[in-house]
Amino acid sequence: MRIDSLRARPIFDTRGRPTIETMLGAGPLSATASVPSGKSTGSHEAHELRDADGGVHQALANVNDEIANAITQRDFTSADDVDSFLTELDGTPDKSRLGANAILSVSIAVQRLFALEAGVPLWKAIATRAGTTPAAPRLYVNMMNGGIHADFRLPFQEYILVVGEKTSVALSIVQAAFAKLGERLGDVPMGDEGGYAPAFDVLEKPFEILAEIVKEFPNTSIAIDAAASELFTGGHYTLLDKMYTADELAVVYESLVTRFPLHSIEDPFEQEAAGDFARLTAALGDTTLIVGDDLTVTNPLRIDDAISRKEINAVLIKPNQIGTVREAIAAVQKTQATGWKAICSHRSGETDDTFIADFAYGIGAHGIKAGGLGQKERLEKYERLLAIEREAETM
Ligand code: PEP
Ligand code: MG
Repeated sequence: MRIDSLRARPIFDTRGRPTIETMLGAGPLSATASVPSGKSTGSHEAHELRDADGGVHQALANVNDEIANAITQRDFTSADDVDSFLTELDGTPDKSRLGANAILSVSIAVQRLFALEAGVPLWKAIATRAGTTPAAPRLYVNMMNGGIHADFRLPFQEYILVVGEKTSVALSIVQAAFAKLGERLGDVPMGDEGGYAPAFDVLEKPFEILAEIVKEFPNTSIAIDAAASELFTGGHYTLLDKMYTADELAVVYESLVTRFPLHSIEDPFEQEAAGDFARLTAALGDTTLIVGDDLTVTNPLRIDDAISRKEINAVLIKPNQIGTVREAIAAVQKTQATGWKAICSHRSGETDDTFIADFAYGIGAHGIKAGGLGQKERLEKYERLLAIEREAETM
């Protein structure tokens, strides 16, 4: 394939911060992609290039000048070929020269171009590229936001309803459950990810509320993202003004698992506490998913470490943590080859790009985190999953 045009422009994400949208053309084909942006970012993520004032002018210039000049001059045989070329062009281990945001916007648009060229839906092209079996992911729907996504009104960052049904059925359950929770909570703000942001001063309260909902709807359970790196300062964790050592926090998780239908716990400890992750996985891993996010940052090398030390049993996959679709697929392949679950995820600052829905379906992810129902950019991911369900039924 010969890419003959490439143009990036600034757009706003859900927090009103600038991000990148890139349009590519190859003969009669064209494709667009935009990239999201995290807030509780892991310190080992690929580098999101921002100007001193938070803008993306340099990252846009890198796409429009250096990347455009380099990739429009040559033929590529595959999307992998383009991604490898981009990684080499950048030349740094964390994509800090050109920017992981700049590179990923091109990488996703390229994946779309190759799907168009092959005449197959995006999820199918991703499955072929990854060697995976497509399947509908469980919906991990953000019901209540806390942590850094909601001014720490609740200690943990995400309180999630997990629904293990096909998308169309799952979404009708989620819609009823979300409305019910809204009635129960009354007039509360929304958090960054389009879930409710109530404030409770008892750690168990959100779990009690979600457990009532789970009782009412079949095939549902609870998940949390503790995002514990954000709770960790001065060598201890602080939840609702109380300090915990890692061992004390592990006891909290063990008690929550005993009392509530808790399906998975993401980032239960801060990103450098690999040993604490491993101990919790040894204790709870038979019944509960212990998910690495800041710990593993979609980085195949960090996933290798987690595998060799049995730190977790599930991995969050966020393409913008690593910067190319090729490497996000490698992260999935390592995760699945070791028998762990891959859970795909949006970011807290999102755009209307629905790539993550196709990616989750294409790799047959265990789940997808796409936020609450209170924001259009989150709903678009769910709508895309519905469209994929219809598309797959006719194939
Ligand atoms: C997360 O931590 O899983 C998340 C989606 O938040 P952010 O995008 O802020 O990292
Ligand atoms: Mg997380």
